[in-house]
Amino acid sequence: MSDLRQRFFIEDSPVRGEVVHLEEALQTIITQRDYAPAVKVLLGEMLCATALLASTLKIKGRISLQIQASGSFKWAMAECNHLGEVRALADYETDPRFDEAVDSSTVFKALANPVLFINIEPEFGERYQGIVPLDKDNLASCLMQYYDLSAQIPTRIVLASDEQRAGGLLIQLLPRNNEEEQRRVDEDLWPRLTVLTETLKIDELTTLDANEILYRLYNEEEVRLPEAEVLKFGCTCSKERCAVALEQVGIESVRETLEFQNPIEMDCQFCNSKYTFTAEEALSLFGKHLS
Ligand SMILES: [Zn+2]
Repeated sequence: MSDLRQRFFIEDSPVRGEVVHLEEALQTIITQRDYAPAVKVLLGEMLCATALLASTLKIKGRISLQIQASGSFKWAMAECNHLGEVRALADYETDPRFDEAVDSSTVFKALANPVLFINIEPEFGERYQGIVPLDKDNLASCLMQYYDLSAQIPTRIVLASDEQRAGGLLIQLLPRNNEEEQRRVDEDLWPRLTVLTETLKIDELTTLDANEILYRLYNEEEVRLPEAEVLKFGCTCSKERCAVALEQVGIESVRETLEFQNPIEMDCQFCNSKYTFTAEEALSLFGKHLS
């Protein structure tokens, strides 16, 4: 089973959804650092969540989820772009509570003053940042609360992850366009689908493929499946972006760095790529040359 995102529609209804499965990409990401088990599980859920949220956007660009907290867990972020490329990273201090996990609630319990940011960065156009209170005990519940309050689109989200695989499902009741559509709606449909969706178990989400999951849940409905999209690990780092970062820290800091590190070496935390800038290259970013 590979890394996929499968969209689905319930025929003749305003209900749509997505199922995601991540395995190879998750492995690539969580083996880059020596993460504790609970952090691996959290990153798996966050990656699935961003892949699900990315599918609800109609823009070219990327969406990221970012948790920030004080206490032993510092931050985590996961990102997905319109090409289905995902990446993620987390930072925390050793904590025995992170040695075991069933779901994201293990890390959530250790978070102090946490905030979850949803960032949408279109290639062109304005950025958007939503702030979600982390007052539920797992990621899926916090995201559902966000949809209820901010977007006012009835949404159910289920996320699951172990240290090998991760899976997620999102189902939404879209707004009706007109009264005619409103009249045609089967009023029992959404409550029925909601109850069914909640029967999904962690191991079903991580081990079954999308078709099997959808059949198990909604076999009484007519489910339409467009072609699945491939998800993969991908990093957006480049020497150009590193140059921008150097410009942002300023020429004084660059000069100071060059005194003990020449050439300057920059590592991408997401993919471990290395970028080097000779003194000449670094200073030329500021229009200066070695004298
Ligand atoms: Zn990178």
